[in-house]
Parts: sequence; structure tokens; C-alpha cells
Amino acid sequence: MRDPILLTPGPLSTTLATKTAMLHDWGSWDSGFNRLTADICRRLVALIDGGEEYACVPMQGSGTFAVEAAIGSLLPRDGKLLVLCNGAYGKRMARLAEVMGRAVTILDFGETAPVDPARVAQRLASDLAITHVGVIYCETSTGILNPLREIADVVARAGKRLVIDAMSALGALPLSARETPFDAVIASANKCLEGVPGMGFVLVRRHSLEAAQGNAHSLSLDLYDQWRYLQQTGQWRYTPPTHVVAALSAALDQFDAEGGRPARLARYQANCDMLLEGLQQLDLQPFLPAAIQAPVIVTAHAPTHPAWRFDAFYQRVKAYGVVLYPGKLTELETFRIGCIGAIGQAEIQLALDAMAHALTEMRIRN
Ligand SMILES: *Cc1c(COP(=O)(O)O)cnc(C)c1O
Repeated sequence: MRDPILLTPGPLSTTLATKTAMLHDWGSWDSGFNRLTADICRRLVALIDGGEEYACVPMQGSGTFAVEAAIGSLLPRDGKLLVLCNGAYGKRMARLAEVMGRAVTILDFGETAPVDPARVAQRLASDLAITHVGVIYCETSTGILNPLREIADVVARAGKRLVIDAMSALGALPLSARETPFDAVIASANKCLEGVPGMGFVLVRRHSLEAAQGNAHSLSLDLYDQWRYLQQTGQWRYTPPTHVVAALSAALDQFDAEGGRPARLARYQANCDMLLEGLQQLDLQPFLPAAIQAPVIVTAHAPTHPAWRFDAFYQRVKAYGVVLYPGKLTELETFRIGCIGAIGQAEIQLALDAMAHALTEMRIRN
């Protein structure tokens, strides 16, 4: 039987080739595995046009582990982080900085507006203690696209360092170190790169890494130490997620074969367009205006019908082989449908049909 299609923010549907890459056992000390790690790192740096200036530091764990490692290692103990926040992942970045005892301040844009670069400039001018700025490229809790290049320019002009959580964007949305100034970008294997969950990575300016010794609050999340060890031995510090690395390598082969980032973006955009049009036919209202909708995940308002229950809807849609995701908004009832992963128009059509059947069965729709 086929696995359900995951229309979620991740983990996502992966191809058979990616799954079968995990059918081998790798020794972490083995030179073959070390070559695999080095090769992945080289390809990920190339993905952002990082050249010699940037290094890739892989990190075990889910994406949040990599965010925590990046913030904890790049922000000096006496530094101050400004987090540009318009959803749950911005809040999470601020929270993890707070938990590790760093000075952190939030610039909040609510949940329906993108980050406004002019307000960022104002805040940077009025709080000179800020050393670093954290931003979420695509805020996955709603699907909002933030104007990264404009934000990066404002931050660079103020002489501050930018850390980008591009978890749900890297591999699809444009991001080049040649065009956008930043210190670090964080992502994981299991979103737009279509690998499996278990590792994140930070693409970081070598200069900033070299200055990061002794900053970390944590032994296992020390990006500097992880990088140093990798440089000296070719190995991960502590047990690597070997199968996840092998799957990412296979996923990157398929990424290249598809036509790289522009082709992936085009596929996701077509998925997103089809989804938005289909939702309209089902009388389901998208939460975001089209102009700020990233082709990553769509948030829809729950129907106002008294028979609506997300759990019941979810179960019925799942019975047709499609997995949706609950909303992540504080005030409104919504749910989310992903556009990313190893899926195309056929899977989106299946999802729309499944939602139509479910709404009919629940007597929300005739
Ligand atoms: C998925 C995601 C993360 C990481 O979440 P994990 O559950 O730790 O993998 C962080 N930021 C954004 C924007 C994300 O979409």
C-alpha cells in the first residue's frame, strides 16, 4: 500500500530513490561516509553561492537544534539579538535565545504582515546594543514570505550581522550570498531539499565561525567545535545520522537532475497555484493575500459551519491517503496544506478531491 501523501510543513513525502538510499549501514569512521559528508557540505555551500567564504556545518537533530546551535555559537555572550517576528518560528528563535540567557529583543509584526524593513532600520538606529538580527525567510506557521533582500540590506547598512532561518525556503526560494549579505543561514534536510528528518545544517561565514570559539552555551550544540572536528577529522563530532546523510545525498542528486533550485521553485509554485484555485472552488478561504504567500504552505480559514471539526476532517482526508496539518495561529481557527515535498499536480488533485469528499461527508458542502 502506498504511504499517505504528506501535505505538511515537514517531514514530507520523499521519493523511492531517497528512501532506498537508506538501505545500507555506514560506519561513521569510514572514509566512504566521510566523503559523503564532505560532498553534501560542498553542494550546500554551492547552493547559496557561498564560494570559499562560507562553510557548511551539519548538525544532528531536527531543524530547531541547528537554529539553537547557530544562535548560541554565533552570538557572543555579551551580544544582543533582535528577532524579527511574524509567527511561531520567530517566537521560537527568540525563546531559545532567552533560554540560553542571551539578551534578546523582539520586533513583532503580528501574524498577517511581512517584516517591514523600514521598521527594522528604525529599531536598529534606536537600540545600538543590538549585534545580531534573526529573521525567518518563510514563516511556516502561516506561509508568509518575508522580504529577505531588503531586510538584509538594512541590517548590513547598520553594520549588524544577519542570521536567517531558511528552514522551509532553502532549495526553492532564491538565496545567494552574492546578492544578499548574511552571516549564517540555517536549514534542514527534510523540507525543500526533500531528504528525511534527522539533521540540520548552518551555512556560515568562515570569518564568523572562527570568531565563535567559546561562545556556545552547550557542548553538543557548539557549532564551532563541530566545525573544527569536521575540519580536523572529516567526521561528525558524536554519532552522525548516517542514513539521513545518505538520503540527503540521494535527494541532492535528484535536486540536480530536476534542474536545481529554479525547477524546484517552479514545481512548488505550480502546486501552490493549483491548491489556491482548488480551495476557492471548495469555498475555503486562504488566510494570506496572494502577494505575501510563499509557495511553501497554504493556511486556510476553517469553515464557519457548525459541523466543522478539524480532527474529523483530518481523519476523513487521511482515509483518502492525504495528511494535512493543523493551524498554528493564536487567535483564528485555520488549517494548513503544504505545497512542498516530492509531490506534483497529481498529488495536489488527490488532496483537493479528498477535501471535497470529506466536506461532503461532514455535510459542510453539498
Ligand atoms: C520546520 C521549521 C523549523 C524547524 O522545526 P523542527 O521541527 O525543529 O524541524 C524552524 N524554522 C522554520 C521556519 C521551519 O519551517
